[in-house]
Amino acid sequence: MALIVQKYGGTSVGDIERIKNVAVRVKRGLDQGHRMVVVLSAMAGVTNSLIALAQQMSPDPDPRELDVLLTTGEQQSVALFCMAARDLGIPARSLLGFQAAILTDRVFGRARINYIETRRILELLDKGRLVVVAGFQGVDEDTGDITTLGRGGSDTTAVALAAALRADVCEIYTDVEGVFTTDPNVEPKARKLKQVAYEEMLEMASLGAKVLDIRSVALAAKFGVKVHVRSTFSDREGTMVVPEAHIDEKLMVSGVAYTKNEARIKVLDVPDQPGVASRLFAPISQAGIVVDVIIQNTSADGHTDLTFTVPRTDFKRALELVGPVAAEIGAGQVEGDTNIAKVSIIGIGMRNHAGVAAKMFSTLARENINIQTINTSEIKISCIIDEKYTELAVRALHEAFGLAEEVEPSREDLA
Ligand code: ADP
Ligand code: ASP
Ligand code: MG
Repeated sequence: MALIVQKYGGTSVGDIERIKNVAVRVKRGLDQGHRMVVVLSAMAGVTNSLIALAQQMSPDPDPRELDVLLTTGEQQSVALFCMAARDLGIPARSLLGFQAAILTDRVFGRARINYIETRRILELLDKGRLVVVAGFQGVDEDTGDITTLGRGGSDTTAVALAAALRADVCEIYTDVEGVFTTDPNVEPKARKLKQVAYEEMLEMASLGAKVLDIRSVALAAKFGVKVHVRSTFSDREGTMVVPEAHIDEKLMVSGVAYTKNEARIKVLDVPDQPGVASRLFAPISQAGIVVDVIIQNTSADGHTDLTFTVPRTDFKRALELVGPVAAEIGAGQVEGDTNIAKVSIIGIGMRNHAGVAAKMFSTLARENINIQTINTSEIKISCIIDEKYTELAVRALHEAFGLAEEVEPSREDLA
């Protein structure tokens, strides 16, 4: 008898029929004698429509109230699911974030879990109940205010619960069959990985592979949680996220990721003097905006151009903050561009191989895709490109690094 945490994403609980199907799937686990905790996301599209509603109400919704609103999405799904489960004879009990005692800090919209007080969940499990926890939400331990963990945060709820309860496995059920070499919805030839190392998954998630939320991967790595990413709509084995994956030595690159969530800001003719960069970036970091790539050109005539990227949601605010400082320090124009995408190749195998970057650049060049900025680390290379070439770039890189599905030999070949 195992203790299993299962998380079902938005598409998996997207309508009444799907919620009923999830209940049937959960019942199978219970019938095998497992103790189970189920974490649910809001039904597909619900969180987005709640955000749209808030934006209709106010140009700058109050963060505390926005969290109160957004958590209702998951509240709906756990209640509906428990109704379906009870109709199947399962003694299911829903718990909202505060009832499950998921204690967080007070950073509305992207709160961090500090601690989970598992007593109530364990008592319910001991009574033979199926515990169904609303994902993506917690409670500020000092004030009792409701918080959310950031978009995609239900994965984090599930892994944190698995860690706190010392579950045998955390199963992440989603709308694809596991973690692929790239987004299978962009490149149908993408190959499912049997295993992926925490380190690689962390990099893939941070570079846009939203199949797992980055904080859930960090937590899994920290607490050694066994994570199995798999499909709600099939019984096939998915991908195990593990400490050390078997590395295919032939493969320099194990995945291609992309994100359209960033925007680029360029400050022209910045005086090339000590302290200037720090003055430009101080107000941005004070506002809690995370700067990703920074590129400074070599200076000409004592002036240089400075380019950097920020999350697209922070773009307007970053522009407003940089404008006045640029004027103060005697820089030129400030330009912004939201039509950019970041494509990245990732692989632990890259450490031991030279020429990976050159191959990435020549692949993009062959497709006539201009590279705007480049950013590298030991196990990844990222390029900012024009957003409209994203899919083309992903497919070209996937092909160039030999990641495509190995084609089964045809009958003629075997004959
Ligand atoms: P859920 O609602 O179940 O949390 P998400 O939409 O957050 O699901 O994540 C699943 C999606 O992640 C897939 O539909 C797929 O388009 C996308 N994705 C991006 N990169 C990858 C990848 N490397 N492997 C698998 N899926 C990926
Ligand atoms: N419902 C939340 C979102 O859409 C959390 C999640 O699905 O993981 O971001
Ligand atoms: Mg998700």
